[in-house]
Amino acid sequence: MVENLLPILRDRYPEFFSHAPLREIACLPGWLDLIDELCRTLKNHMDTHPEMPPIQVRQVKEKFGGLRFYYSGGDTTCRELVACSEERSMSICEVCGQAGTLGGERWLSVRCLDHVNWSPSGDCA
Ligand SMILES: [Zn+2]
Repeated sequence: MVENLLPILRDRYPEFFSHAPLREIACLPGWLDLIDELCRTLKNHMDTHPEMPPIQVRQVKEKFGGLRFYYSGGDTTCRELVACSEERSMSICEVCGQAGTLGGERWLSVRCLDHVNWSPSGDCA
């Protein structure tokens, strides 16, 4: 399993992920496709709107079960695209990328049926 998504994303979108303080993507690999699609759309938008302030990703993480994508630059369209992806993350299993639901007793997370009891530490209690 891919543990660190940052090198992958930095390789694909160096203009977004080269911000030095960005050390990790704090979510599980199930959301890689979602983040990749978001970045691809943002890049297309940026390429056709050269006047727009460049996007620099500050932080990507999971919070309250959903994706959070913090960045500087961009415009209204970028904000809408990011909000849309954050919304979509609430129904994508963070472990594997299949359809999932938000749940959990100790902490909120989005999991499919296969990963409903999965945790990063291997603790399935
Ligand atoms: Zn899953």
